[in-house]
Amino acid sequence: MAIKVCKFGGTSMADGNVIKSVKNIIDGDMDRRFIIVSAPGKRYSGDIKVTDLLYDSYNALVSGGDFKKAFAAVKSRYVSIVKELNLDFDIDSVLEETEERIIKERSEDFTASRGEYLCARIVAGVLNAKFIDAENVIFFDENGALNGEKSYKAVAEAVKDAPRAVFPGFYGRGADGKVKTFSRGGSDISGAIVARAVHASMYENWTDVSGFLACDPRIVDSPRRIKSISYKELRELSYMGANVLHSESIFPVRRANIPINIKNTFRPGDEGTLILPTSRYTPCGNIVTGVAGKKNFTVIFIEKSLMNSEVGFIADVLNVLKKEGVPVEHIPSGIDTMSLVVESECLQGEKLNRVIEEIKQSVEPDVVRVIENIALIATVGHGMSSSVGTSSRLFSAIAAANINVKMIDQGSSEINIIVGVSNNDYEKCIKAIYREFFV
Ligand code: ASP
Repeated sequence: MAIKVCKFGGTSMADGNVIKSVKNIIDGDMDRRFIIVSAPGKRYSGDIKVTDLLYDSYNALVSGGDFKKAFAAVKSRYVSIVKELNLDFDIDSVLEETEERIIKERSEDFTASRGEYLCARIVAGVLNAKFIDAENVIFFDENGALNGEKSYKAVAEAVKDAPRAVFPGFYGRGADGKVKTFSRGGSDISGAIVARAVHASMYENWTDVSGFLACDPRIVDSPRRIKSISYKELRELSYMGANVLHSESIFPVRRANIPINIKNTFRPGDEGTLILPTSRYTPCGNIVTGVAGKKNFTVIFIEKSLMNSEVGFIADVLNVLKKEGVPVEHIPSGIDTMSLVVESECLQGEKLNRVIEEIKQSVEPDVVRVIENIALIATVGHGMSSSVGTSSRLFSAIAAANINVKMIDQGSSEINIIVGVSNNDYEKCIKAIYREFFV
């Protein structure tokens, strides 16, 4: 039998009524056997997520504030959820135990993790399914990274003989034996770990949108929905700012070739977006799958005659950045020129001047120039490598919009062309590219 692993995000857990629809979704497909939940999210705009209420509670606890009052806001969310669900579940005792343990542990991660813990206990009750505490099956190593092999084994063992089980997302156990969380939004990663551990045929990620859009809807009105996308394309796009899914969550499932389906709890009939391993992916007919970008990069342009024949030139330049702890996004280069594209926030204060001085000393370039306020825009699609004239269309569209391109980088994966334009031209450029390839 095929196994589907379903992760439900915060808005799908926001109140008792939404949790009822989640139950219907799960009951509607016998393959939906393993469920991962986030903490209850916002019920309306302006509401506060339970995880944020928990961070506030922790801060009150350690800074001598009114912890009881802060935690009362958390309690009331769960009490009303259980009431709305009409569930026979002693939430008051569970909340009391939780409060005592938070005070005893005095740990930020432990406190934050209780949002998912409490939610999973309730959902397990609603579904009449086994509750599996992430603390006992998801493990981190001494460096704080996921211990994948140990976790996959423990999850597989825990679900043995369980027709259905519910896991809290977002946390596991650190090498020191204490509860440790992933970064924010990390329940996506928990879901991916469970999917990999149980050899799922599909990892369904239930959110409040019907999948990914081909570009930012704040820039283009009602952009087209992406029906299917490869892992590789998604990586290029999510890195540039399209973030529905936690960017680390794709790695466990990608390695195991498990597809991800982004679905909408509030419109379960919508197809959503299917994220597929490249080997199983056939482009949907469009040359370009999506366009995404990010503002505020700095370009350090370096020129030196015969740079190409100077052994170790690029290494010496990169060593300067390594020493200063500055990550480099892209390195477009020519025969006597190279550029370093860096997120501006990594070069704040005196750092930029220091980097420039050290580059001058280290490689004695003819010219070093700094160009600031650059936006990068990635146009991504598997179809691009096989169709002649894509870049000419891209650049003609940008030129027709009267935008000056300051940098070009065609990723060696050939599914991605990145252009650098002035921050001021960012929105205009995305619109021009979208119009060219989608309208
Ligand atoms: N509840 C956590 C957060 O708000 C984790 C998650 O939702 O995935 O970041």
